[in-house]
Amino acid sequence: MRAIRVTEVGDPSVLTCVDAPMPEPGAGEARVRIEVAGVNFIDTYHRRGWYPLPLPFTPGVEGAGVVDAVGEGVTEVAVGDAVAYGMSTGSYAEYAIVPSRVLVKRGQGVDAQNGAAAMIQGMTAHYLACSTYPLKEGDSCLVHAAAGGTGALLVQIAKLRGARVIGTVSTEEKERIARAAGADEVIRYTEVDFAEAVRDLTGGEGVEVVYDSVGIATFDKSLDCLKPRGYMVLFGQASGVVPTLDPQILNQKGSLFLTRPTLASHMLTRSELEGRANDIFNWIAEGQLEIRIDRTFPLDDAEGAHTYLEARQTKGKVLLTT
Ligand code: NDP
Repeated sequence: MRAIRVTEVGDPSVLTCVDAPMPEPGAGEARVRIEVAGVNFIDTYHRRGWYPLPLPFTPGVEGAGVVDAVGEGVTEVAVGDAVAYGMSTGSYAEYAIVPSRVLVKRGQGVDAQNGAAAMIQGMTAHYLACSTYPLKEGDSCLVHAAAGGTGALLVQIAKLRGARVIGTVSTEEKERIARAAGADEVIRYTEVDFAEAVRDLTGGEGVEVVYDSVGIATFDKSLDCLKPRGYMVLFGQASGVVPTLDPQILNQKGSLFLTRPTLASHMLTRSELEGRANDIFNWIAEGQLEIRIDRTFPLDDAEGAHTYLEARQTKGKVLLTT
């Protein structure tokens, strides 16, 4: 089978397509014939060695396809099931071995593309809006990179929960995408001071919560967008890692809460995983949540997919097809 293999960390050129032996599932594992693999920022962190994985490895933490073999003791899925998953490494390949506990069945109306696109960005948007700070009617939130894969889904889920959504984007085209996703207000943060703009848009009050995936470029000003006792939710670092911070800053800016959540700690049990995935899949099937597929690359051009993602060009989900 074909698989992408990383033998040394580095730039996108380390993503090499190789012929690999067909893997066999062990106890509690299933083999999935991958139709579509999701491309996520975390894959670039693995490739760069920022989040180290033992070498060599096959990248990719998200995929959709069909179960074609199961190991001993697997109860969650059976051979022939159409499935999707996130948070198991090795999806940039024609076949992947996946712990069966992270596999979810795709219902009707959820094809492999949507399945592969939903499991990291969709589940992340779900836990951010429904668990980390559970948005409610009347809340205001700021969503950075609101036309991005996760951002545009977070905007839609925030609207489903009744919040007023202010989004930030870098270009006119991305502004259109953020507005189409439902953002009430959109700020071009590359052109104006977004903290001032948020103050203006909220009558000087600020927002209940900032969802910040951009990191170092936005973090400090994001704190200035919050109401007293507001929630600073730092969930990514597309522009670079936020340095160590003095907790006194949270006191000075109004008794703020700061969290740095991860998806892994929001799918701890089978019922939590299935609950979130079912919400996402139902919203997709009912037309309440639209996943914007931006670009699809062939598996052997994983290098092109990473180059595209890191060039700040993405306007939705990037996928690899086998
Ligand atoms: P996106 O599709 O959102 O792409 C990243 C976006 O960030 C870009 O489109 C761009 O939007 C913005 N951006 C700002 N500065 C930069 C920069 N210097 N380089 C690149 N992009 C920049 O990607 P994802 O949805 O896949 O991921 C977004 C973030 O969410 C990542 O940081 C990722 O690690 C994180 N994440 C965290 C998870 C968690 O559980 N904690 C799970 C999933 C993702 P614009 O041009 O409008 O500024």
